Amino acid sequence: MCFYPQVLQPLYRTSIIILLALAATIVSWSGKNGIHAASMDETIRIAIVKSASEVTVAGDGLLVTNENGDPLAISFPATVKPDRDGVLVEGKRYRRLLFSASSAVYVNNKPYRGLAELSVVDKGILVVNQLPLEEYLVGLINCEISSAWPIDAVKAQAIIARTYAVNRKMARITAAYHMESSVIDQVYDGSLIEDSRARRAVSETAGEVLTFGGAVIQAFYHSSCGGRTEASENVWGAPFPYLKGVECQYCLTSPVATLWENKLTLKELEDRLRTAGHKVTGLSDIKPGPTNSRGRLKQVVLIATKGNVTITGEQFRKAVGYGVIKSTRFTMKNSKNEIGFSGSGNGHGVGLCQWGAKQRALDGFAFGEILSYYYPGTELKKLSDIR
Ligand SMILES: [Zn+2]
Repeated sequence: MCFYPQVLQPLYRTSIIILLALAATIVSWSGKNGIHAASMDETIRIAIVKSASEVTVAGDGLLVTNENGDPLAISFPATVKPDRDGVLVEGKRYRRLLFSASSAVYVNNKPYRGLAELSVVDKGILVVNQLPLEEYLVGLINCEISSAWPIDAVKAQAIIARTYAVNRKMARITAAYHMESSVIDQVYDGSLIEDSRARRAVSETAGEVLTFGGAVIQAFYHSSCGGRTEASENVWGAPFPYLKGVECQYCLTSPVATLWENKLTLKELEDRLRTAGHKVTGLSDIKPGPTNSRGRLKQVVLIATKGNVTITGEQFRKAVGYGVIKSTRFTMKNSKNEIGFSGSGNGHGVGLCQWGAKQRALDGFAFGEILSYYYPGTELKKLSDIR
C-alpha cells in the first residue's frame, strides 16, 4: 500500500507536471554537483504493466522511438494495443516502442521517470520502466513505509531496497526486466509519491548496500515480525548466515501494525483451500501443528470428514490469503462453524522488521546500527567499491 499525499486529478495535472519538471531540474543540478553522481549510472528495469490488452501513454514533450531507435511522430495521448508479436499504435505495428520525457512518461495516467518500453509478451503488452536505480528508490520509499518516519528508519529502508534491487538485478541480468512492481519484489508505483524526505534518505545513503563476505546480500524485509524475526530456512529452505532471526520487541509498540484478528467460516476456508489445490472435503476444524524455533506455526492440520490434511503454515497463508492470515504466528478458535484467527506480525518475518526499525530509530539508533541488528555480520559498502 503506497502512501499517497494526493490523488492525481486532471485539473492538478498541469501543476504536477510543472513540479516534476522543477524536481527534474533540481535532480539534474544535484547530480552534476556530485551528490550521487557515481551511483546515478546504475539503472534498473521494473515491470510496471503485464499482460495488458491496452496501454495509454501520455506526457509533455515525449520522445518515441521504435526498436531500431528511429524517432516516430505519434500524437498523444497514444493508445497502444497488442498485435501478434508487436504493438499497434495509430494503425502501425512495431516490435517495440520506447517513450521518454524530460519530466515524466505517463503510463495509464501514472507518471514514471526514465524510459517506458512497450513490447508484447504472451499476447499481452509488457511495459518495462527503465530508470536510474537511485530515482527508483525515491519513488519506492512511500510505497514501502512512510517518509514521515524518523529519518534513520527511512535511510535503512533506502539501503535495503537498494541492496535488494542490486541483488535481483545481478540474478536476472539477462531477463526482460529485473523486478516486479508488486509485493513479489518491492512495491513501486512511479514518481507521483516522491517527496523531499524520501529523496534526502536516498541521496544521503547514495550507492550504499549491505554486504556479507564482500558480496551483496539478499536483503529480505517485511512489515512487522510480531516479536521475533524469522530464519530464512524456515520460509524458503535456504539458510543464510545473516538471516537467522533476532529478537524484536520494537514492533510490538505499534499494535495497530502488528496485532491482527480475522474470522472466516469453515465453508469459506474450505473453498479457498480447495481453490489453492489442497484436497480437503468436509472441513470441520483446523488445529495448529508444531511451532518452529522462532515461534511460528510449522504446520496446520485441516480436520475433514474425508481425511485430515496437514499443510505448512506458509501454504496455509498463501491459500487463505496473505491479507487474512498476515503471518504464521497465530492461534485459532472454532466457534459455531467459524474460525477466529488472532496473530501478531505482518509478512514472512525474514530480515528487517519495518515497524521495529521505526521504533529503533525513535529510540535514537542510527541506520547503520538498525541494519546490523537485523542483518548480523553484514557490512555497509559503496556499490562502486565492490565492483
Ligand atoms: Zn519486529
